[in-house]
Amino acid sequence: MDIFSGFEKIVRSNYPLAKHTWYGLGGPADYFITPENSEQLKQVVRRCNENKIAIRVMGFGSNLLVNDGGLRGAVIKFDSEEFRQTQFKGEQVTAGAGADMSKLLFACVKKGLSGLEGLTGIPGSVGGMIRMNAGGNFGDVGTAAVTVTLMDSSGKIFEKSKPELMFDYRRTNITAKFILGATLQLASAEPEQVLRTVKEIWIYKKNSQPLNTKTCGCIFKNPRGVSAGALIDRAGLKGLQIGQAVVSEKHANFIIAKNGCTSRDVRRLIELIQQKVKEQFGIGLEPEIEIWD
Ligand SMILES: Cc1cc2nc3c(=O)[nH]c(=O)nc-3n(C[C@H](O)[C@H](O)[C@H](O)COP(=O)(O)OP(=O)(O)OC[C@H]3O[C@@H](n4cnc5c(N)ncnc54)[C@H](O)[C@@H]3O)c2cc1C
Repeated sequence: MDIFSGFEKIVRSNYPLAKHTWYGLGGPADYFITPENSEQLKQVVRRCNENKIAIRVMGFGSNLLVNDGGLRGAVIKFDSEEFRQTQFKGEQVTAGAGADMSKLLFACVKKGLSGLEGLTGIPGSVGGMIRMNAGGNFGDVGTAAVTVTLMDSSGKIFEKSKPELMFDYRRTNITAKFILGATLQLASAEPEQVLRTVKEIWIYKKNSQPLNTKTCGCIFKNPRGVSAGALIDRAGLKGLQIGQAVVSEKHANFIIAKNGCTSRDVRRLIELIQQKVKEQFGIGLEPEIEIWD
């Protein structure tokens, strides 16, 4: 641990990542780092750069498939109190990258602030949600985001605001490695109305997605104008299983990891689905989940 001497409290070696992912899959990272604040983040990033250690950033791992064999390099997670802070000011909220978006949504419901209801049922940290522009039919986080605080790999901290800040389907124009936080624009509303919308979306999701299973949400992005789930369903792949990974019967774009599943099972099933959909419809499905090798 010489490389990170002085940072023993926040750097763990050979650290299992499975428990930090929604799939509960994946091997250990060489280093798992949870900086307490941006100054410490800068310092550990400098150590990584000096020692040519690759860095990845992890949110709540709800969109990640981590290799069974583990990962070379460092994984940084914004897990400290400072990075989980949220602060409401009028109709805006500023939240750290590690804040839980679901908790933020419920705080908004209580305060009678509308704007995040479309994220009901989507797990994730503020940083991960901004990176992915998480959302769906009911709206996405990019619509609410006005400013993001970022840090690049050289340790420079800066902000990016709309209109310079842009969001598209599951992507943003943020190129900086680290999202440290975001300010979201909300609008005053009746708490009962906000809660009603959240409940409606929740019921819709509960009825259409396998929510009480180990998944990573939608595996594939929707190709332009088509639903990936509908293509997989029409290809007759619901229930298809490799090892302990199975295509959900409830929503064909979800792969469930059953007991004993490995990342490799999920990977092989993803490849098989891609191959079969390509054969039948001539359409190449692109993963929405991120695969960490
Ligand atoms: C049951 C279920 C339902 C889901 N439904 C939806 C849905 O409807 N719509 C949708 O869009 N997604 C959905 N997802 C996927 C997931 O919730 C989103 O992609 C979410 O944004 C991931 O956030 P996270 O914090 O878990 O990020 P992670 O999965 O940990 O990481 C995702 C990406 O963000 C990057 N990242 C994370 N934090 C930071 C940071 N601070 N700085 C820089 N980069 C960072 C990671 O490097 C990675 O590239 C679902 C997942 C599950 C398990």
